[in-house]
Amino acid sequence: MQRKPVAFPYPIYITRPMLPPLAEYIEELKDVWDSQWLTNAGGKHAALEKAIARLVGNNKVSLFTNGTLALIVACQALRLSGEVITTPFTFAATPHVLSWNNITPVFADIDPVTMTLDPERIEALITSRTSAILGVHVYGYPCDVEAIQVIANRHGLKVVYDGAHAFGTRVNGRPITDFGDATMLSFHATKLFHTAEGGALVMQNPSMKEQVDFLKNFGIKDETTVLLPGINGKMNELQAALGLLTIKMVKDEQYRRQAIGRIYEERLRRIAGLFLPKLPQNVENSYQYYPIRITSAVARRSRDEVFEALRSYNIYARRYFHPLCSEYACYRMLPSAHPSYLPVATKTATEVLCLPFYGGLSDDQVQQICDVIEFVMQE
Ligand SMILES: *Cc1c(COP(=O)(O)O)cnc(C)c1O
Repeated sequence: MQRKPVAFPYPIYITRPMLPPLAEYIEELKDVWDSQWLTNAGGKHAALEKAIARLVGNNKVSLFTNGTLALIVACQALRLSGEVITTPFTFAATPHVLSWNNITPVFADIDPVTMTLDPERIEALITSRTSAILGVHVYGYPCDVEAIQVIANRHGLKVVYDGAHAFGTRVNGRPITDFGDATMLSFHATKLFHTAEGGALVMQNPSMKEQVDFLKNFGIKDETTVLLPGINGKMNELQAALGLLTIKMVKDEQYRRQAIGRIYEERLRRIAGLFLPKLPQNVENSYQYYPIRITSAVARRSRDEVFEALRSYNIYARRYFHPLCSEYACYRMLPSAHPSYLPVATKTATEVLCLPFYGGLSDDQVQQICDVIEFVMQE
């Protein structure tokens, strides 16, 4: 038995945002001050939109003030209505976006390995009211995009992805945003690449981008023409200026997170009942999260016991995504929300734990976190 580790004297959170040197941000802001152009498609906005487009190899990109609004507008632009089939194993924003469009979320179970929407469970849920499939590349693990597209084509459905965790994810060398009609990216401070708050929509169709650009600016075409009942979803110049700096930091941050992942793997792989994240060979990781799974049938401690024990050592891991969206008071009365239809998601939500994962963690800190996990799981 190893000695009881000491608690951290300060809290260790799941993530910390990349921050450029303040002087560099002030330099960027000087341009904004000089131009006195604070929002509405300014120069920083244009530059960031171009930079993101280059990264995802697609010039149909539209920036937003946050990812949720991007997804709300995607539903409007694609004229989604009625019912949309989605996953319960996601952040609250995913089903809420449907609700804000007067669409009923229909929850389908997830795949036990990728934890994304299980294509095998989709078709039985399709009705005459179904307009789309909304998948989530949870933790940056890609949905089975090909199988989902086959089903969508067969039934004439649109495909939209919540790619909030998938900045930089690639499948067979292709950016994940190449799949589906549109993919939302979130640039929230807790995400890998961020603009404090922010997001984007990546689309396949140039006319959709045109529509989306109107919709995020109140549907205004010009001074006297309002085309559509739009909303205000614009990213401002202060956000875009920050993004122009943080985007340059992404590669190093991913590289450092990869090294941290190797330490976790080396230290934790022999613990009974603890399973480490493993992406398929053909997938490039976004390094957004480091989700481990703790199976109570094998492990000596349940996920919740480990979660609570870590807190007593000042380590704040997160139980993403527990509870399931289908368990929220606003959704649990839906017929598709009953746990008996969602056995895999229900079980997964009791097993996952996202460990602290950000470039600012030192090797020593990661080792110390591993000491604690090792200790509490063997206690
Ligand atoms: C962060 C997140 C969102 C919301 O993005 P915002 O930019 O904060 O609006 C949506 N879906 C998932 C899965 C997320 O993790």
